[in-house]
Amino acid sequence: MNYCSDCGASVSLRIPSGDDRPRFVCERCGTVHYENPKMVVGCIPRWRDRILLCRRAIEPRYGHWTLPAGYLENQETVQQGAAREALEEAGAVVRDLQPFAILNIASISQVYFMFLAELEDGPWVPGKESLEVRLFESHAIPWRELAFSSISKTLELYLEDLGRGPFSFHIADIQA
Ligand SMILES: [Zn+2]
Repeated sequence: MNYCSDCGASVSLRIPSGDDRPRFVCERCGTVHYENPKMVVGCIPRWRDRILLCRRAIEPRYGHWTLPAGYLENQETVQQGAAREALEEAGAVVRDLQPFAILNIASISQVYFMFLAELEDGPWVPGKESLEVRLFESHAIPWRELAFSSISKTLELYLEDLGRGPFSFHIADIQA
């Protein structure tokens, strides 16, 4: 951050009084601009014994497979965000969202909140951020072509639960 979003003056990075870490502070109006972790919401859309993955049409990781997921928007619940991402990226309507995993990626200040979801019948249509949308059986998941470690971790947890049953809620830490 270079300029204050309140008044347009320069900001400097310093520790405000009473605080314990550096923040961007406006040199004119004194506003402290806090920067906090971003939340990514997504789901594992299930259709019979298969799951839906999207092949990314955008960087980073263009051409790699991912679960529908993206940044939570303001004034949106995590359930709404996860359903919206499935609709935007795959034209997929999901229901019965069930909390499945929180993944901390503290090193890049991101938190993933992933759901299990039931997928309504298709057709499923790639959105503008996807090249392709496809259903995969568990044994056919393209592990080497997955976009992010968060997606690999989510699918590993999914397969573990699928083998043991029932599904449970997980919290895991990921090193990025
Ligand atoms: Zn200012």
